[in-house]
Amino acid sequence: MRLQSTRHQSPEVGFKEAIFRGLPPDNGLYLPVEIPTLSSSFWQYCDQLNFQEIATAMACGILQGSIPEKELRALIFKAMDFSAPAVKLHKDLYCLELFHGPSMAFKDFGARFMATTMSYFLEQSGEKLNILVATSGDTGGAVAQGFFGVPGISVTILYPKGKVSQVQELQLTTLGGNVKAIEVNGTFDDCQALVKQAFLDEELRSKYRLASANSINIARLIPQSFYYAYAYAQLKHLWKDLVISVPSGNFGNLTAGVMAMKMGMPVSYFVAATNVNKVVPNYLESGEFQPISPSIPTLSNAMDVGNPSNFPRLLALFNGDVEKMRAKIKGFSFTDEETKLGVKELYESYHYLACPHTSVAYLGLKKAMEMDGGEHAGVFLSTAHFGKFLPEMESILGFSPELPEALQISGKKEATEMDNTYAKFRAYLTQHLI
Ligand SMILES: *Cc1c(COP(=O)(O)O)cnc(C)c1O
Repeated sequence: MRLQSTRHQSPEVGFKEAIFRGLPPDNGLYLPVEIPTLSSSFWQYCDQLNFQEIATAMACGILQGSIPEKELRALIFKAMDFSAPAVKLHKDLYCLELFHGPSMAFKDFGARFMATTMSYFLEQSGEKLNILVATSGDTGGAVAQGFFGVPGISVTILYPKGKVSQVQELQLTTLGGNVKAIEVNGTFDDCQALVKQAFLDEELRSKYRLASANSINIARLIPQSFYYAYAYAQLKHLWKDLVISVPSGNFGNLTAGVMAMKMGMPVSYFVAATNVNKVVPNYLESGEFQPISPSIPTLSNAMDVGNPSNFPRLLALFNGDVEKMRAKIKGFSFTDEETKLGVKELYESYHYLACPHTSVAYLGLKKAMEMDGGEHAGVFLSTAHFGKFLPEMESILGFSPELPEALQISGKKEATEMDNTYAKFRAYLTQHLI
């Protein structure tokens, strides 16, 4: 597999280099030079395969020998030992549940695949690696779980003290082992600045191998295309064209869906469903990309993104042509009031508990399908378990739904409290990095 930068000012690289580098030197984003179409017989018979088998076929297609097929298969069965069921709510209305991984959010697919592939390459070379991440909540949990216990990799996670939810904090701080948490007396931006400074510290980098695990890494994007193919496989028996609604913030998830389409997955169109940070719906309407700065805080806070980082990739997949994008993506945005009504409606009409992000996806699908007049089958993506947003759920529904076992974390919080200075952070790193 060869990858190129969306800015075309950097040399092409292989898969291994792209994942350890993260970003190309021209500050664009890595995209595969070629996204191969899988055979028509794969798409014809995919309904006879389970999720891991579909993922293996998709991975072999896109990685094109970067990891030998037998090893890739073992790696996928190890990284993704959970599924992505499409739950039927009503005739032609389905919810694709992406929260059956260890942190109960869809970011588990990307984080686990990235951790396992990195570990595979490190084992071959005998090298060690340090992952540094700053988190405002959700990403940290998925990265912590994804890299937990992975040989040859040590993870340091920074989060702003008192500014992440209780469940999120426990997910970050109770694993132990190779996952270390630092609570910074400061904001998320301070955490990010500390990590950035460490990456610019040449002396530190000459002693330790550092990498980030942020969402623009191509190794986090690729595995997300797998569950789109699996959604198609589960709904194929309906014999209807599919509409897929994706609750979006940085647009990695939707970009992965478009990659699955390029690999031959039949889909009528996608819905880009956002909260009031509606940069992409606005772009689809006006043809102008206008970031919202600062981003607007909402109930679906993992989607509070005013300048979606994956947009250049999405645009590149449509050859920079807004018309081509419009043919395959419809954009809708929703306010917090509408999001709350969506949560209520899902519960009252279908006895389905959904988090605010999932509600946005549902509303987008509903709107699109009303405009279509019933000719499609629809699936909306559930990106997180409602239990991760219990206080919000309580205030919307007026009662407290029961927390699933995986979120009833009982371990003891272990985190190093730290003042927001680089000197302190650096001293910590020189003691703890491997
Ligand atoms: C990250 C996240 C999103 C947004 O996904 P993008 O790939 O950034 O568009 C949506 N919902 C939840 C729960 C998330 O954590």
